[in-house]
Amino acid sequence: MKALRKLHPGPEGVRLCDIPVPPVGEGELRVKVAYAGICGTDMHIIGDEYDAALPVTMGHEYSGLVDAVGPGVTGFREGDPVISMTVASACGTCRCCRQGNELKCPERKSIGSGLDGAMAEYIVVRADRAFHIPEGVSLKTAALSEPVGCCVRSVVEVSAIRAGDYVYVSGPGIMGQLTAQLARLSGAHVTVGGAAGDGERLALAKRLGAGATVDVSQCDLAERAREITHGEGFDVVYECAGVSPSADACLKVLRNMGQYVQVCLFGKTVPFDMDGALIGEKHIVNSFAADRSSFEITLRLLEARRLALEDLITAVYPIEDWEQAVAHVRRRDGYKILLRPGDWAEG
Ligand SMILES: [Zn+2]
Ligand SMILES: [Zn+2]
Repeated sequence: MKALRKLHPGPEGVRLCDIPVPPVGEGELRVKVAYAGICGTDMHIIGDEYDAALPVTMGHEYSGLVDAVGPGVTGFREGDPVISMTVASACGTCRCCRQGNELKCPERKSIGSGLDGAMAEYIVVRADRAFHIPEGVSLKTAALSEPVGCCVRSVVEVSAIRAGDYVYVSGPGIMGQLTAQLARLSGAHVTVGGAAGDGERLALAKRLGAGATVDVSQCDLAERAREITHGEGFDVVYECAGVSPSADACLKVLRNMGQYVQVCLFGKTVPFDMDGALIGEKHIVNSFAADRSSFEITLRLLEARRLALEDLITAVYPIEDWEQAVAHVRRRDGYKILLRPGDWAEG
């Protein structure tokens, strides 16, 4: 089968390989992958900025149909539309695992970095980590479950957002757009910020419910923040751009004792005004990846059509054209780019 693999470090390290279809074992499902999304994390793996156990098939955002059911599995049948959790295994004995936070287990293995992932015609996953896609939700939309789940963790599970809060979301890419929608669903007044060239993305954020948008290359963010929040500063800020100037700006427009939530990876060490955070007793919290609960909330939101996701799928490339797809992601033009790994009749 075709599989997009990171074989070794360096710019030539990624290759579309032909590898055997993986066998399905006890308690496992083999899934024929319909769509596999390219995530910021995949870009960091390609750029040698994120730890991965090489060689490995990339991809942790996907949807597909059950192709084979392993011995001992109940609740799934061939042909069922499914997604699965990113974390595939954890040690089970460390403090994080004992307290039910295996997402933070230092020994955890995730698909697409620690174990073979979804940028392939087939992926094998543990059935107890798979979820049925709700009826009426397309495979294409369901392929966004993991990024939605990460934002659900940020907004719904980790942050202390409350109805009526003034919220600032920095970065109008896919994560920022999802975060903004979830913050609005939580009852906040949402402002989305972008930089030069983000005009269209900011317009979309407005269409999808943001109360205000700011192009930080055109106007003074601190001044706009004072206008919007009546001089008080934002109650919660979400850093969804993963660039250093954005982190600094987010911290500055956050009110004292407000909450700064880091959503995206920077891929490098960034300077941070810790004195400003200290003096204002600003709470810095981090949210990375999606837990079981995040996926469960996500699937409820998808089933209830509470999120506008169609506008966030920009393009679908056959896996053979992965280089064009990666170049498309690098252009920062649009939102989610999906790969189509196999031969599928339906679009
Ligand atoms: Zn992802
Ligand atoms: Zn553990």
